[in-house]
Amino acid sequence: MKVFIPREQEGETRVAASPDTVKKLKGLGAEVVIQSGAGEHSKITDKAFEEAGAKIGDDKSGEDADVVLKVIRPTKPEAAGYKDGAVVLALMDPYGNETALRDLAEAGILAFSMELMPRITRAQVMDVLSSQANLAGYQAVIDASHEFDRAFPMMMTAAGTVPAAKVFVMGAGVAGLQAIATAKRLGARVSANDIRPATKEQVESLGAKFIAVEDEEFKEAEDSGGYATEMSAEYQKKQAELVEQHIAAQDVVITTALIPGKPAPKLVSKAMIEAMKPGSVLVDLAVERGGNIEGSKAGEIVDVGPARVIGYKNVAGRIAASASLLYAKNLSSFLETMIDKEAETAALKIDFEDELVKATLLTRGGKVVNERFGGTSS
Ligand code: NAD
Repeated sequence: MKVFIPREQEGETRVAASPDTVKKLKGLGAEVVIQSGAGEHSKITDKAFEEAGAKIGDDKSGEDADVVLKVIRPTKPEAAGYKDGAVVLALMDPYGNETALRDLAEAGILAFSMELMPRITRAQVMDVLSSQANLAGYQAVIDASHEFDRAFPMMMTAAGTVPAAKVFVMGAGVAGLQAIATAKRLGARVSANDIRPATKEQVESLGAKFIAVEDEEFKEAEDSGGYATEMSAEYQKKQAELVEQHIAAQDVVITTALIPGKPAPKLVSKAMIEAMKPGSVLVDLAVERGGNIEGSKAGEIVDVGPARVIGYKNVAGRIAASASLLYAKNLSSFLETMIDKEAETAALKIDFEDELVKATLLTRGGKVVNERFGGTSS
């Protein structure tokens, strides 16, 4: 069984293998071929891959590979260059990309979308959304501190006191919780919100303040098992007013709110930014999904009124060496479940009834098979 790891397209800094995962796959009996230079931006040299047991190849080395491990979805020509029936694991970005899905199907490959991995205990080690969001949450705070012309921690010096920066994190999922923890470590005064009442406890356990109108309705929602419940229009209005007042007093706002498969909710308006102090910094981690902040631009840093709005794309890729290690491990762990451990030489044995396979497999036999994207798995 041949596993190929190509160099990614321009702009993608991560790589889908690490020396550790190469060793693991070799140990399972696979032949591993890495395109020369694939690890460059993640600071993994060809030599390091070779020492782990990989062969170094070129862009044609994927033509006869049984498995291709990638970070982002292969382009149409790339997919067409893989052999019929090749297993391809990547961030396929399937929502709203029907044409690309058809291209993957026509290429005859088995395209697996790692973002669709179920968030169940068995698949935690394969959860790319968590591994990458965690690093993005960290990096968002580092990026904010870079643009912020003041210190994060309070500093009491002989020449006077520098006040602690006030950081507000909107959305307390994986990225948000890591942003809270990072801002706390830097000494900021941190607050956060979320629409899931269960996050209150998580936010507070990190030493941050939870921002919510804590009336009877909120308390009932908090007891309802932790899932976001539809709150009354009256509650939403009160909450919006509280958040608006709160934002005006912040130095840094980091937004991380996403709704799976839908455009990101708009949380911060231009009017709210106008009410902030000069030199305030906002980071929109949802910018590639439409953005949480009015005026944020994907791939750019823009000045909006008195503030600076950061809209970096692929934030995990800004910390590529760490992101690649975790991402590679996510992929090799999933691939391991598809390898026949009884066979004498490594071979694929895919259980198409496995819930992880069913959830992530997009294309097979020339067709889109994933039910979420109009396919039928039978
Ligand atoms: P996400 O990236 O989809 O969204 C980020 C956060 O934004 C979520 O917490 C969401 O509630 C919040 N949000 C949405 N709309 C909002 C709004 N209008 N205002 C404020 N916040 C808003 O979420 P995620 O980080 O991928 O994870 C979400 C949940 O999944 C968490 O409970 C997490 O613990 C859970 N999770 C479970 C597993 C597992 O069991 N294996 C793994 C990872 C995450």
